Amino acid sequence: MMRALVVRSPHDVALDTVGDPALGKDDVLVTPLLAGMCATDLELIDGSIDPAYVRYPLILGHEWVGRVEADVPGVATRGDRVVVEGIVACGTCDECRIDATNRCSTYDEIGFTRPGAIAEHIAVPIRLVHRVDDSVNTDDVVLVEPMAVVWRAITRFPLRERLNVAVIGDGTIALLAAHLVRRFNPVRVVVVGRRSAQETLAKAVGADQFVTEEPGDRFDLVIEAAGTGASASSAISLAARGAMVILLGLPAHGTLIDVAPHDLVNNDVVIQGSFAYTRQSFTEVVEQVNIGNLKPSFLITHRFSMDQTSDAIGTLRGRVADDEPRGKVVISLT
Ligand SMILES: [Zn+2]
Ligand SMILES: [Zn+2]
Repeated sequence: MMRALVVRSPHDVALDTVGDPALGKDDVLVTPLLAGMCATDLELIDGSIDPAYVRYPLILGHEWVGRVEADVPGVATRGDRVVVEGIVACGTCDECRIDATNRCSTYDEIGFTRPGAIAEHIAVPIRLVHRVDDSVNTDDVVLVEPMAVVWRAITRFPLRERLNVAVIGDGTIALLAAHLVRRFNPVRVVVVGRRSAQETLAKAVGADQFVTEEPGDRFDLVIEAAGTGASASSAISLAARGAMVILLGLPAHGTLIDVAPHDLVNNDVVIQGSFAYTRQSFTEVVEQVNIGNLKPSFLITHRFSMDQTSDAIGTLRGRVADDEPRGKVVISLT
């Protein structure tokens, strides 16, 4: 038996004792070391995710780094730290054949439809394991999954350099978007946040400006990372002629917004949704972390133990002081 953070059914979450993971012939056992939590975990707890994308009871934990308990031939040896793609793509469907592993016809994801990593052990498919270089700080690796989500969104179509960029939102995904879009040499990056306490983090990731009021300007690239209907509307209204709007935040299932199709056509605007990450985007992020080109651990602001998961959930729900920056919330599992 082992301890794990379990959502038994919507609104019923607790640290629980569950059976050890079942190890299939193509699986390897991993001991999680550190796991991040995010707003998506709250949606899993609250039952506001599309029911097609979740299976209860569920062990939470889709952003994590662990230590592998057996050799993974050609990839890692027992005791190495590893990071694991959460999306378990079949590899044979039409989507997988064009490398769109995020759209695999059989949706299956660690921490959504299969057990997550806020647990003492987890069994994962060997083919999804990536080794972490010994030189890398574990705190930087725990952000690989959210970085892969952002990286896939901003590399899906080629971005021009010298763009005026607005990022809507001030949570970890928004901050990582402001950070990663810097690689395309933007003219400026404005983060449109909600809490002024997030300004220091926004500046730390490389934003030129942090505002809490919707700016009067228009932008060439707008990245929506707050995940509400209002923020999606706001993202579309900030688009300059010829702009691309990337919808990255995940509003609650069923959220609707008003759009003015005339403006989209007249302004030649591209609106792009982006779901999760592909094997390629995940791999590219791991490579950048492994060579020391991505060190986002300064975004970790709150750290809890396994016994403090209810405090972690409270922090995610916004139980922080008005002037307290909130970046990534992590659970230490060792
Ligand atoms: Zn997440
Ligand atoms: Zn597939």
